[in-house]
Amino acid sequence: MSELLTADDLLMAHAAGSLPEPVSLVVATHLALSPAGRGRYARYEALGGALLEGIEPEPVAGDALDRLLGRLDDELEPIPEPVRPWQLTSPLPRPLRDALPGPLDGLRWRHLGNASEVDLDVGAQGYHCALLRVRAGKAVPKHTHDGNELTVVIEGAYRDAVGHYRRGDLAIADGSVDHQPVADEGEDCLCLTLTDARLRLTGRFTRFLNPFIRG
Ligand code: ZN
Repeated sequence: MSELLTADDLLMAHAAGSLPEPVSLVVATHLALSPAGRGRYARYEALGGALLEGIEPEPVAGDALDRLLGRLDDELEPIPEPVRPWQLTSPLPRPLRDALPGPLDGLRWRHLGNASEVDLDVGAQGYHCALLRVRAGKAVPKHTHDGNELTVVIEGAYRDAVGHYRRGDLAIADGSVDHQPVADEGEDCLCLTLTDARLRLTGRFTRFLNPFIRG
C-alpha cells in the first residue's frame, strides 16, 4: 500500500509546478488561508532552485498555475463577497473566489441532511471538486476513499478520527482513513474538497446517501 500523501509532498510539487490544476487550486487556497502553510511553502520555494535544478516540470495546462501562484501575492486583500443567506465571517480566499462562477449563494447547491454541496468545474478529468457546507455540530456520512481526498477548511472547523481542522488547514485522506467528519458546534463548516476517486460509505444504513457522496 502506498504511503499517505503529505502536505509537504503537495507543497513541494506545487513549488515545482508539477501539480494538476485542481490540486493546485486546493493548495493555493490552503496557502491563502494558512500562514503556517505559507511558511513551509516559502522554504520549498527557496530550496527549489537547488533541489529542482535539472528536473523538468511536468506541463500544467496553460498558464493556470502561474495565475494561481500570482494570486497568492494579494491573497489577503479584502474582497467584499455578499453572501445570503450565508454570511461568511471572512472574504473567500482569492484563488477559490476566482475559481467560482459566481457568488456562493448563486451556485447550484444540493441539500441533503446535514450538509449542502456544490460541484465546481475544475476542467480536469478524473477529479471531483466541490464546496461542502456542514451544519454546525453535524456529521457527514462515515466513509473511506478509493483514492486521495484533499480538504481545505474555508470557514468553521471540523473534527474526525485523525484530527481537528480549522480555517486554512489542509486535511489529506486516502484508503487508510475511515472517518466521519463532524463540524464544530456554533458555526457551520465550509470546506473545499477534491477527490480523485470514489468515496466508499462505511457506516450502517448509508445506501440512501449514495447520491450525495460521489467520486
Ligand atoms: Zn473523507
